[in-house]
Amino acid sequence: MVYLAMAKQKIAAAPSVRRLPLYLQVVRQAQREGIQYISGTFIAQELNLKPIQVRKDLGMTPIIGKPKKGYPVAPLIRAIKYFLGWDTTREAVLVGTGNLGTALLGYQKLQDHGLLVVAAFDSNQEKIGSLIHQVPVFSVETLESKILTWGVKIALLTVPSHAAQGITEMLIKAGIEGIWNFTNVKLKVPDRIVVQKEDLSSGYAMFCVMMQARQIGKDCSRSLLPQR
Ligand code: ATP
Repeated sequence: MVYLAMAKQKIAAAPSVRRLPLYLQVVRQAQREGIQYISGTFIAQELNLKPIQVRKDLGMTPIIGKPKKGYPVAPLIRAIKYFLGWDTTREAVLVGTGNLGTALLGYQKLQDHGLLVVAAFDSNQEKIGSLIHQVPVFSVETLESKILTWGVKIALLTVPSHAAQGITEMLIKAGIEGIWNFTNVKLKVPDRIVVQKEDLSSGYAMFCVMMQARQIGKDCSRSLLPQR
């Protein structure tokens, strides 16, 4: 019950949660430089934020800053990692080893943050049986039985949009409880399933609109790229 209440609190504080990895980066850099205490004002300056915001966000952890000294660096790193759940290892599978799936399999940061992709699935015969960044690729036809046997609860979804809902249904039957969805499909799932959608095209759309507003990068007539 206590854990559920804590999790709900974290979800409510989503913008603050999104800033915590930035704080972690700054605090880790301080640790590398041998600094033992770091002030909220320093963190705020580094990240172009308001000190009050930083102090409020760090208030989600039990670490209390000392007047004139700041936050103790090592305990603060441990507390942020604990809050984010980055101090535990979670096993996951990935479905769809295309360009994005392959890039994610090679992205060491996921492992550093405790997300260990133990296997991948694909429908392409040429990929099945291969290793991509040391991760074995299995046939999607074996997805349900393998995931049920392994008991893995997390999946990264990087299949093309037309396959996304069908694969999701297979994943749920296989006992998956959390889906990190990199497709542009809004998945229909039961309430108990956690879905985080990471739609690169939505992010790019926002980026384009902001650039259009400032007339950035519109003139491509002098392209430096070789002509195809
Ligand atoms: P590539 O260049 O390797 O084809 P891509 O990123 O352009 O990759 P997509 O068409 O987005 O390719 O497909 C991503 C991956 O999902 C591919 O490896 C493809 O074989 C795989 N895939 C497509 N449909 C399914 C499916 N139903 N089940 C599992 N994997 C699938």
